[in-house]
Formats: sequence, C-alpha cells, structure tokens
Amino acid sequence: MAASLKKAGMFIYRAAALLTAAGLLLFSASCGEKGAEPYGGQDYVMGTLMTQTIYGGNEELAKKATSEIRVMEAAISNKFNTSEVSKISALAGSGGVESKYFDIYKLAVDVSVKSGGAFDITIAPVVDLWGIGTPDARVPSREEIEGLLPFVDYGFVKLEDGTVSLTKEGAALDLGSIGKGAAADLALSVYRDAGISSAIVAVGGSIGVLGGKPGGAPFIIGVRDPKGGGNDYLGTLALKDISVSTSGSYERFVEKEGVRYHHILDPKTGYPADSGLVSVTVVHENGALCDALSTACFVLGLEKGVKLLDGYGANGIFIDKEDKVFVTKGIQSNFELKDGLGYELVKIE
Ligand code: AMP
Ligand code: MG
Repeated sequence: MAASLKKAGMFIYRAAALLTAAGLLLFSASCGEKGAEPYGGQDYVMGTLMTQTIYGGNEELAKKATSEIRVMEAAISNKFNTSEVSKISALAGSGGVESKYFDIYKLAVDVSVKSGGAFDITIAPVVDLWGIGTPDARVPSREEIEGLLPFVDYGFVKLEDGTVSLTKEGAALDLGSIGKGAAADLALSVYRDAGISSAIVAVGGSIGVLGGKPGGAPFIIGVRDPKGGGNDYLGTLALKDISVSTSGSYERFVEKEGVRYHHILDPKTGYPADSGLVSVTVVHENGALCDALSTACFVLGLEKGVKLLDGYGANGIFIDKEDKVFVTKGIQSNFELKDGLGYELVKIE
C-alpha cells in the first residue's frame, strides 16, 4: 500500500487531517462535528488513491464501495487484457460487447460530440504510444504520431441496444479520462443505498460529495496550486451534494531536453494540448461528467471550455499560464482564493 501511494505521488497528513487527491485536496471533517462519527478508509483503485469519509458508515460499507469500483475497473480499464474495453478494442471492425456500463460510454460520446472532438475516448493508440505515467514513457516521432491519428475518431464508436463496438479495425478505447469520476459516483450510490446522508469520496482528482457535514455545513475542498507541491492549494470550494473533478498538466508528464510533455492530448494533433491552461476544475452533480468535462475543457481552452460547461449546466475554475484563476458564475460564492500566492481572481460574468 505504502509503495502504491508513493507511486501515485500522494501523501497523507494524518495529524492535519488533510488528504490529497491528484488535483483536489479534501479537508477531512473528522474533528468537532456533531452527529454521526465518520468512518475513514483508503484504497488504491484505478491507478490512484481512493479516500472515503462516511459519516455513520463503517468498514463493511467502505469495502462494499471499493469492491464495486474494482468490478467496474476490471470492466472499463484498458490496463487489463481481460476487460470489456480491451475486448471492444480487440473486436474493432468485427463485433461488439454488451456492457452494463453502457451509460458511461454514452456520456463519453456525448462529450466528444459537444466538444467537437477535443475529448475523444478513441485516443487510446496515441496515449499508448506516449506511455506517459508508465515506465515506457517517451517522446515519439511526428511520423509515429501521425501514423496513428487516422485511428482516432469518436465517430468509430457505435452504441446500440446496450452494445458498444468500434467500426474501424485498429481503433481502441481509453476511458481513463472519465473512469475516476464514474467511480466516485458509484461510491456515492453505495452510500445512499445504505441510508447514509453525509459522505465524501475522492478517487484521484475526482471527488464526490453526499450531503454536507453532519452539522449542516458544506464540505471544504482545496483546489491544488499547479505551481506548488501535492499538498499546496490555491483556493477552496465549499460544497454540498455535488461532484468535482480536476485535470492538470502537472499531474503526469514526460520530459525531454528540458521540455515537458503532459498526459492530456489534443486528438487533432496527437501532442499534449496547449490551450494556455494549466488546470481545469469542473463542478456538476454527475461525477463522470465532471471528469470528462475537465479533460475536454483542458484541451478546448478557456473560451470554448466555458461554453461547453454552460451547455451542460456545469461550473468550473480555469487556471491559465499567466496565473489567472477564472471562476464561472454558479460557484463564485463557493470559491475562495488564497492570498499571497500571486494568483489573480477573474469572475466570469
Ligand atoms: P484526466 O486526468 O481525467 O484529464 O484524463 C487524462 C487521461 O485520459 C489520460 O491519461 C489519457 O489516458 C486520456 N486522455 C488523454 N487525452 C484525452 C482526450 N483528449 N480525450 C479523452 N481522453 C484523453
Ligand atoms: Mg477527466
């Protein structure tokens, strides 16, 4: 476990009760709360740290959430040859697979269409070529990248009667941009079914919030400072009954000759997206949607990203390379920027 946590670049401060996720920090609310006692647990799922805080919950409930997420991971992760996603990719051009996670694929394709292809789950061949976040990470040649671009097109994804298929041989799927948010949604539904009304779960940079703290106050979530370390935050969001997801260029990257290449790729070029942003945080009731939108907005940039969020009734925080922090209208009263870090708050009207 310790080795896994270290691998994910995460640290746990027990004394300060501050738990870090990839792009968001979760301030544990274990002290001085009235009402139900919180049960806290940590696991390694979907290649990252999952932290559960369930008021009135127990180990059994936390384990139930973890095991349901592991079942989902075994289906939608392309890291396992036996997963349904790997089967869909292997059958590309010839057949499909019926999936109980059909809604996740549907949502992914919807975000692909509405983002004009900035978000695209058929990016898999190019993601594998770069290998960012794996021991085989490298900067491929332009020829290698361009040779794979004809296989990247969300139009190859066919969704019919609960069955998912790819119409082009050689195309493949990667749900890495949406899976953690879907996992957070699944955990919240397990808590809800057990009658829990107050809980918070973080799966990497995706956080799901059920209710508020037992006393009625909102949960406080820190938005990571892209220039700081894993525990540094530039501001806080006070939220109830919602999901939050962050995508940032500081999360995973490979370096060559002093140039940093991060893990969020522009499907049009096959290179890391360079839209002027360093991080995007999205807030919406649907965690899987937050996850997909944060990746999509990172590729689209500020202006088009804000429009995409508007279309879904979502809100967001966009941090650009000039240290400006743009916050959409619906969460301006929930967000507080920390003083003294040199960031400038810009409220989007
Ligand atoms: P996230 O950290 O949620 O922003 O997701 C990033 C992950 O999604 C990467 O590690 C890739 O596996 C995959 N990915 C990269 N670029 C894209 C893209 N433009 N659309 C969809 N998925 C992507
Ligand atoms: Mg994402």
